[in-house]
Amino acid sequence: MSADGDADSDQGGSQALTRRILIGLVLGLGVGLALHALDLRDTPVGRFLVDGLFFVVGRIFLASLKLLMVPLVLVSLACGTASLDDVSRLGRIGGKTVGLYLFTTAVAISVAIVVAVIVQPGVGFALSTEAAGFAAKEAPDFAQTLIDIFPENPFKALAEAQMLQVIVFAILLGVAMTLAGEPGRDLLRFFQSANAVVLKLVFVLMELAPFGVFCLIATVFADEGAGAIQQLAWYFATVLGVLAIHLLVTYPTLLVLLARVAPLHFFRKLRAPMSVAFSTASSGATLPVTLRATEERLGVDGSIASFTIPLGATINMDGTAIMQGVATVFIAQAYGVEIGPAGYLTVVVTATLASIGTAGVPGVGTVMLAMVLRQMDLPVEGIGLILGVDRLLDMTRTAVNITGDAAVSCIVARSEGRLDLETYRAP
Ligand code: ASP
Repeated sequence: MSADGDADSDQGGSQALTRRILIGLVLGLGVGLALHALDLRDTPVGRFLVDGLFFVVGRIFLASLKLLMVPLVLVSLACGTASLDDVSRLGRIGGKTVGLYLFTTAVAISVAIVVAVIVQPGVGFALSTEAAGFAAKEAPDFAQTLIDIFPENPFKALAEAQMLQVIVFAILLGVAMTLAGEPGRDLLRFFQSANAVVLKLVFVLMELAPFGVFCLIATVFADEGAGAIQQLAWYFATVLGVLAIHLLVTYPTLLVLLARVAPLHFFRKLRAPMSVAFSTASSGATLPVTLRATEERLGVDGSIASFTIPLGATINMDGTAIMQGVATVFIAQAYGVEIGPAGYLTVVVTATLASIGTAGVPGVGTVMLAMVLRQMDLPVEGIGLILGVDRLLDMTRTAVNITGDAAVSCIVARSEGRLDLETYRAP
């Protein structure tokens, strides 16, 4: 009875929080645009607000989210894996999850390429000198990237927040705790208790979210206004268009066909994590909010969500893949390079891998784009062309990235009979 009461007040609380986060988002947008439009950015008041107040509160909010990232992935993934009590169930759910993540990413890039080839955002683009100033980072070597997924020292991986390594360690730990049977119970109980505490911490720190979101959004728009978009309008519009297609067509179709649920509820319940993803531009930082919404509001069983969501926040980046697909075609067109059908196929494969390797933090998608460009023998300096509008696109694609994680979690949960339809449909 009291547990029900708790659940109800949690639901009500998280709805009220969602509303406050949305208000923070809209107010931040308004204040940022106003500061920019009224040329107040470089006045003492503007500097006090943007470089002082907004900066400090925004940073504290980001730090509070990042603080949760490593412990949350470690304990929730270890518990999630251990709760899939037998290894064959883990294999089945893991297979479905990774398969769907790869599938949705491949669909995302394919649509991105088709649309970019039709729209031709880069044709006739006058290459600006901006490109010369961009020093591209070395593209990571593929074999080394693969080797680096396996941690040599788990404590180093945790301390440096190497998320793929933390994931591998957490899954191994979860499997081993299950296989160890009775002697492993104490450690499992410790992790379960740590999980409950970390989730409570999420709850407490999320009270900062409306203020944090407000400050981050106000800063971005006070600095950039809408001006940066104009030069690269077609590129910007193409990426946004494909993100919208993926969000509003691909995910709803998959939810209807594979999970047999109405997509409207899905989007309504994801407003809070989408707003946080938009304002932080970091799937990793948004992870606590995504996990909470997926379990509490979408009704995905904890044993599934605590496995699929941390994994998705790290390896499933459909929005990033879309940017990488459009950007590759855009840069090829801008430099007048023909890619051809086999080339496009290579882009699909490389961008899928690049998006897996992209860490869920702001801006890394463009660094990983270097890997795709290098693979395609395209000038890596081309990244300089798109950097001007990347922050805004980063915010938008991150919202798509986390939506993909939640959609796949619903589908996997439904296929396992672990989606609570009553919670999913609840207002
Ligand atoms: N900011 C993105 C994320 O965290 C990654 C990227 O595309 O740069 O999901």
